[in-house]
Amino acid sequence: MATQQSLFNQLQQLDGQSYGAYKSLKGAYDFADFTLHIDHVQGDPFAAPSRVRVVVPQAIAGFPPEAWNSPCRAIALADYLTREFHQVAGSSQRKSGSGKSGLISIVRPSQAMLARSAARVTAEAVELRFSVGLPAFGRRIAGRQAADLLCNTVPDLVDQTLYYDALDPTSLSQHGQTAEDAEALRSQLAAQNLVAFVADGAVLPRRSGVDERPLADQAVPFQSPPSLRVTLSCPHAGEVTGMGIPRGITLIVGGGYHGKSTLLRAIATGIYNHIPGDGRHQVVTDPTAVKVRAEDGRSIAGVNISPFIGSLPQGKSTQRFSTPNASGSTSQAANIIESIEAGATALLVDEDTSATNFMIRDRRMQALIAKDREPITPFIDKVQQLYTDYGISTVLVMGGSGDYFDVADTVIAMDEFCPQDVTAQAKAIAAQYQTDRDREGGAQFGALTRRTIQPQSIDPSKGKRSVKLRTRDVDHLEIGTEAIDLSAVEQLVESGQVRGIAEAIVYAQSHYMTATTPLGAVVEAVMADVERHGLDSLTHWPMGDLVVFRGLELAAAINRLRSLQVRS
Ligand code: ADP
Ligand code: MG
Repeated sequence: MATQQSLFNQLQQLDGQSYGAYKSLKGAYDFADFTLHIDHVQGDPFAAPSRVRVVVPQAIAGFPPEAWNSPCRAIALADYLTREFHQVAGSSQRKSGSGKSGLISIVRPSQAMLARSAARVTAEAVELRFSVGLPAFGRRIAGRQAADLLCNTVPDLVDQTLYYDALDPTSLSQHGQTAEDAEALRSQLAAQNLVAFVADGAVLPRRSGVDERPLADQAVPFQSPPSLRVTLSCPHAGEVTGMGIPRGITLIVGGGYHGKSTLLRAIATGIYNHIPGDGRHQVVTDPTAVKVRAEDGRSIAGVNISPFIGSLPQGKSTQRFSTPNASGSTSQAANIIESIEAGATALLVDEDTSATNFMIRDRRMQALIAKDREPITPFIDKVQQLYTDYGISTVLVMGGSGDYFDVADTVIAMDEFCPQDVTAQAKAIAAQYQTDRDREGGAQFGALTRRTIQPQSIDPSKGKRSVKLRTRDVDHLEIGTEAIDLSAVEQLVESGQVRGIAEAIVYAQSHYMTATTPLGAVVEAVMADVERHGLDSLTHWPMGDLVVFRGLELAAAINRLRSLQVRS
């Protein structure tokens, strides 16, 4: 294997040559304490930076087995190392030259602790993947700068972040323990018949709409109402008390600005483990809970929305409903049905992002617009059947309609950011003031139809390239010539998840989509591969920018492809 010294010499020789000569760097270099792999060399200084990998043998990195010997701890440790590297590399950034010259970057972690392809810890080694902008002046190789970057800066960063002795052992073990505690809490939900658990003392509000860190000073810590208080136990924090949200139908009510949506959002992100200090690290949710909303304008392919939407104008079918331009109500209906198809067992719904006519139809409107002129059976008439027929729970923020008191099992009122159990009062009020609504939509929820995807309706090619993928932030994905808007898929928290989903769509299409495999089975097969062999199973080359995602979000992305064609 080539060595650090030979890389250094090679870079000196490349100085002043045209940028393309950098391609000769591809390969592995022995740096004594670690191996540097240069996996991909950028074509010019403005292109996506070059991909590199550092592999430190565990014998040298020295992480004690208890730091990595369970899947949960290995993910927490990898997450920790990624954060350290992100922080150190970010603060010691010296751009030198054109374009991305001198840049060293790694995926940017959110508040969630997620498995990422950027870092991996095993009994054998610690591996970190990041990208490096190979320096240039114009289109000429800046060889001396490159030598300094790869042979001095990179080893410095490795020194500061990838050896156990260089790190704070207390904070590192706290990271792992926090993850294990969250896993333990989440694993108790099913036996306790809960959708979610919000620990006492949790800090739910965030700093701003664009800053996911916890609100610092004015946050009111969470305090569970006694009647909904449960005690769960976890290996490190011991017994933890908090509010259990029971399965069934839970209504979150309360005045405007009293913290309803903030609570629901915390529940929605409770599918992930969070870092210590996040404030939500003991907020855990059923891993198959999906936040669903209205999303007018989206396309829908062959979804059986007939449980919610009956005969449409012009006799349009709702058993196999397709449209390039859904309305608020049809989009929300499709989002629910598709989530169930992909395995959701709990729905999280906020009035702020729902279509009013999908949620409710009161007595007066029923009187004015006869049922045969209104295709929508509102959610209020279906939410109980979802639970009794299919075991799907709903947590619903609804400050605007007391009609829901009739169908709720639990009613939580947020008052000055403090939850109260008002179930008994709500039921008494429901008995005193009848709504006189007619129940609509029959006694059963209705059939759920499985769909198969026509594999050829997904085309990842663009121009000369057989696969062209682009992603931006957490809400935008391009596959081939098509753009997918993921802004309504609210539980994605990192751009790397979107990157992973993009790769997974291509992988799903080439490995599992056949004319007879239902979408749910395709997604399951892909997720089983990711679970068993990691995110690398999705790509031909080792990539550093993939972050784990759920099958639910993969299905959501596939469902939003405008070219999608299905059979049911
Ligand atoms: P609602 O949905 O009831 O109208 P929101 O959940 O949107 O209210 O919250 C309103 C505001 O209050 C937001 O700015 C949010 O960050 C803040 N907030 C929510 N919960 C708390 C809390 N526990 N302590 C302090 N501020 C909070
Ligand atoms: Mg709200």
